[in-house]
Amino acid sequence: MAGSSFYATLNPPARILLGPGPSNVPPRVYQAMTAPVVGHLDPEFTSIMDDTVELLRSVFGTKNRLALPVSGTGSAGMEAAFCNLVEPGDKVIVGAAGLFGDRMVEVAGRCGAEVIPVRSEWGRIIELSAIEAALKQAGKVKLVALVHAETSTGALQPLGEIALLAKQYDALVLVDAVTSLGGIDVPVDRLGIDFCYSGTQKCLSCPPGLAPITVSERGMEAIRNRQRKVQTWYLDLSLIENYWSEGRAYHHTAPISMVYALREALALVLEEGLEARYARHWQNGRALQAGLQAMGLALHAQDGHQLPMLTTVRIPEGVDDAPTRRTLLNEYNIEIGGGLGPLRGMIWRIGLMGYSSTRDNVLLVLTALETVLAEQGFRCPQGAGVSAANKVFKGG
Ligand SMILES: *Cc1c(COP(=O)(O)O)cnc(C)c1O
Repeated sequence: MAGSSFYATLNPPARILLGPGPSNVPPRVYQAMTAPVVGHLDPEFTSIMDDTVELLRSVFGTKNRLALPVSGTGSAGMEAAFCNLVEPGDKVIVGAAGLFGDRMVEVAGRCGAEVIPVRSEWGRIIELSAIEAALKQAGKVKLVALVHAETSTGALQPLGEIALLAKQYDALVLVDAVTSLGGIDVPVDRLGIDFCYSGTQKCLSCPPGLAPITVSERGMEAIRNRQRKVQTWYLDLSLIENYWSEGRAYHHTAPISMVYALREALALVLEEGLEARYARHWQNGRALQAGLQAMGLALHAQDGHQLPMLTTVRIPEGVDDAPTRRTLLNEYNIEIGGGLGPLRGMIWRIGLMGYSSTRDNVLLVLTALETVLAEQGFRCPQGAGVSAANKVFKGG
């Protein structure tokens, strides 16, 4: 089919994206991407850059001077964080209870860090006491790194006490907010986070392609005090910062259309209002979770620490993972995610991120899942999921 329509205009389907990202993109963001490309030093563009920085500060809850989008997806933000903060031999504690924590361990190791992973079962949070034990044992630690919303397990990592503790040990605090930013509160200044990175395609509901970051004065100082240059030229923040501040020194060509899209996506976040947006994510997440449980399904993530924008649910016995997801995609146009690593074939990951987080989508995915599961012999009281979800929507 692809062959016969090779010269036809590209025409991908408009899916209902309820997986671990990307999420659906609002029309205003798509529209921004079709705006004319201007030069990356055009005053019209640099003023859009300034607006984007200001909007980013508001969404990150920070007064940090440095807030900008790194070119590349969320993982580029992760790479930028470790490459700029870590020098060979530095001790780095990484909370690893899922795929993205493991990725941090990998990236920190490649920067030459002496990595001290603090692990937890996939689905559980990292306990304060485990970080404390590692800090006590390690001696001088440069950095403590955590994943706020572990998209591979559905767990919401508490940050406040660990950040405070890290400060007491004079360690920098690094947080992965790829899935949390724009969906739940990521109060960078209030928590004293020194380096926070995110991605565009999760709760910001912008296509993938940029990694918003922000760095505290303490973080910047650590970067300035490096003994040797950052080994990656492309992600060297001292160079990137020169382009994103008054100097406007050419480093690499900004992905113009992606910056338009992010600017518009951030404007939508603030137009809705941060508190209202967080409340929407919480309510839709809780409704979905109540619905799934009423259908007789079990949630995977640790009780009391379930993410609102990404729900992990165990695949019931006798039900096949891949065929279920294929039917949802082919017959209902709905994408949900499968499990990764040790959770492969064990769980599904249902995302309600940004523009995808709606009451309609909660009711739709519950209804579709009930039907598809029934076809595989898993039966639940008819309408139980929707009814439980509706109770949450009605404030029950
Ligand atoms: C998606 C994700 C990433 C990686 O982002 P990419 O855009 O896929 O590079 C990192 N951390 C978390 C928690 C994520 O959910």
